[in-house]
Amino acid sequence: MLATVEGRVAMSGSQSALREANRALIVETVHRHGGLTQVELAGATGLSTATISTIVKELLSAGVVDTRNTTRSGRRAQMVTIAHRVGLAVGIHIGVRQLRVALGDVSHEVVAEQTLPLPHEHRMDTSLDRAALLVTDLLERVGSGLDEVVGVGIALPAPVDSATGMISVRGIMRGWDEIHIGHILSKRLGCPVFVDNDANLGALAESVQGASRFYRDSVFVRASYTTGAGVVLGGQVHPGFAGTAGEIGHVQVDPAGDICRCGSRGCLDTVVGASSLIEPLRASHGPLTLRDVVQRAADGDAGCARVVADAGSTIGAVVAGLAIALNPQAVVVGGELAETGETLLAPLRDAIRHRVLLNQIAPLEVVPAELGERAEVIGALEMVFRSIDFVARPSEHSSPSEPGMGD
Ligand SMILES: [Zn+2]
Repeated sequence: MLATVEGRVAMSGSQSALREANRALIVETVHRHGGLTQVELAGATGLSTATISTIVKELLSAGVVDTRNTTRSGRRAQMVTIAHRVGLAVGIHIGVRQLRVALGDVSHEVVAEQTLPLPHEHRMDTSLDRAALLVTDLLERVGSGLDEVVGVGIALPAPVDSATGMISVRGIMRGWDEIHIGHILSKRLGCPVFVDNDANLGALAESVQGASRFYRDSVFVRASYTTGAGVVLGGQVHPGFAGTAGEIGHVQVDPAGDICRCGSRGCLDTVVGASSLIEPLRASHGPLTLRDVVQRAADGDAGCARVVADAGSTIGAVVAGLAIALNPQAVVVGGELAETGETLLAPLRDAIRHRVLLNQIAPLEVVPAELGERAEVIGALEMVFRSIDFVARPSEHSSPSEPGMGD
């Protein structure tokens, strides 16, 4: 099909339209594949190698693509990639059951992204291994190397002391305590690594690109396998002294409840955490995952919807305390449970409004998040953009050397 472009446009008689179509085709193909040699580009587009060569030269001088030397089947070749010019940032979200890695360029655009499932109670060393491998994989896909990475941001489902990059409350992620996650990955990837809590980074992302971008003061609630919140005051994320601001998952909601992994009794997480949502459905629905519950609730299953709605009420009651303390303009709700829409949101909103002073000047909005499951990784990228001076860094893109792979 691609091969017909040259002929079809040529028959229309417009030489410049033909050239424009071929340029667009080449850019789109490079973008889709990440990086291709000129011979591979000819194969993928159906254009002649002479046409490819001419257009790549034009695109190179226009700064649209970059080329670097590589080898194919032992022969020297030129790899064509989309130009990044001033380095790439890496965002990593190590979730409870999923790993997500994204590469972002200086224009804050995500140029590559991938997710992998993680096993229950995944181990620190294997998870960091997977993250590092996925980073090098994605870099290769866009024709880049670790030498072009200016910084890495990591989102973790636990409170993090931003000064040390370590988890600041013991027991929340088993086997991850006392571990210098930032140091380990920084040594391995050879660049600065920044670590923060996933709710804080979700809050950052939503405040820059998402639902809270029009508000100065907002609270981002992340209702997922565990529940957390990120606080944005005056447009800045407020992490608190030890990074635990908004850590609502460990507010006691049931004094007679189960013991939480943090050591307290009846924390919000023990009532609305994944296993507590799944368990009451076992007799009626059989074994389910959290994703099943969310999907079925969204599809209108009454039992699953009830579990999610009750969780919304319970979370809302706790968020009300935050709202009273902070007087935000908006509460933005994200995380897996928010995929059920008003099933979660309506009871959560009611529970907050029930407990918060009504304010005619600035009524509190309770709205869905806009970035979905990508919020945390986008926040991790944003953390790097804010911490690293991209522009001051010289481009190493034309370097013909093989990228360093770390150890
Ligand atoms: Zn707890």
